[in-house]
Amino acid sequence: MKHAAPDGALIRSIIAFVRRFFLCHYHEVGLKKGNRAFFERRLCENIRKALAGFPFKTVRRISGRILVEVPEDAPHQRIGRRLQKVFGLASCSPAWLSGQSLEDLERNLWTLVRDREFDTFKIEARRAQKSFPLTSPELNRLLGSHVVERSGKGVNLTAPDLTCHVDIVERYAFLYFTRLPGARGLPVTTSGRTVVLLSGGIDSPVAAYKIMKRGCPVIFVHFHSYPFTNLESQEKVRRLVRLLNEFQFESVLYRVPFAHTQRQIVALTPPETRVVFYRRFMLRIAERLALKEGALALVTGDSIGQVASQTLANLSVISSTVAMPVLRPLVGDDKEEIIQTARRIGTFPVSILPDVDCCSLFVPKHPETRARAAAIEEIEAALDVEELVAAALDGAEREIFESSPSELPAAAIPSRGNGPS
Ligand code: ATP
Ligand code: MG
Repeated sequence: MKHAAPDGALIRSIIAFVRRFFLCHYHEVGLKKGNRAFFERRLCENIRKALAGFPFKTVRRISGRILVEVPEDAPHQRIGRRLQKVFGLASCSPAWLSGQSLEDLERNLWTLVRDREFDTFKIEARRAQKSFPLTSPELNRLLGSHVVERSGKGVNLTAPDLTCHVDIVERYAFLYFTRLPGARGLPVTTSGRTVVLLSGGIDSPVAAYKIMKRGCPVIFVHFHSYPFTNLESQEKVRRLVRLLNEFQFESVLYRVPFAHTQRQIVALTPPETRVVFYRRFMLRIAERLALKEGALALVTGDSIGQVASQTLANLSVISSTVAMPVLRPLVGDDKEEIIQTARRIGTFPVSILPDVDCCSLFVPKHPETRARAAAIEEIEAALDVEELVAAALDGAEREIFESSPSELPAAAIPSRGNGPS
């Protein structure tokens, strides 16, 4: 393999070397058999949308990976953080392109490693190209010896300070040191559209995140009881939508007036059943909006037994009012798990800002925990359901949120890997 590089090859290798990329790996998308190309195409489209406003050159598929070329002087850290919010990616790595000859690899790797601080290192080579003349262990040994020779540093295969990744892909080699964990899941828009009932609390934003992670774009519906609730509560929900929009690039929020409905419920139903009625009306109104928007399911942040209103009996009587499926992605999670996710995705600090949710208005300390459909329907006969639903829809305000690269809360993104990128 070792031979002197002719001048032309040397120049080509140096030009190639300054080209900067993000090498993105995916997992679940790669498991799709017949539909794999469809999922990969959506993933590329979503990456382009996510990077709108950032300088990038190309996004393309290459041997089971996605390659994003970025200018040398691009804000690489911010681009990396942005890519970490694209569902479907298992990881993304800031990478340098190198020629495939051993000389190129040795020289380029050394140039990148030279100024890094480390005492121990390892080489982790992978070949997508099985026709490449060296096996991965051979490449590990050869490049490892070269780095030892030049740096005098030691190899540690179990817990090195620095891991040098070398991916041989098609006609190229990529060198990288950091693997940023991705959001995983499926690319948004590869599954059906849903409507999420979004309160200003901790749970429903996490429910929205989890359903988007399964590829479903979401439309947000928030019920407010203005003037019983203040305008800040609506502002808080808009902030949550902006944060969640980072995962799907364009969002619609409906703000629906609920005070009129609540007044009727308070006037005509026993206090302990009110929350059940609030929820039945919320679902009915959300279902109408879902039909209008072409959504296939409703999503809430309920978790069984978390609060008195979320017993299985109540959830069943609440769901029975709509024909559309009601998905509850948090159904088996405890509060601590939900809070952990909320912190990780950055919604927690907004969710805990003080506000008044319309559901907490006019409800007794001990609400009904064992609602029965027949009894609830009997009481509900006193309400003009159609008039209440129509009035709420009539007052609904629809707002569109576009993607904005500046929304990212830096601290919310996990990072892993060794060595600077
Ligand atoms: P969250 O943190 O999502 O508010 P929670 O534990 O406080 O959840 P509840 O207030 O009982 O639970 O609400 C249960 C679910 O009902 C919420 O997760 C949400 O999906 C829906 N919901 C409650 N209030 C509203 C609202 N004002 N607008 C839209 N959806 C709501
Ligand atoms: Mg709530």
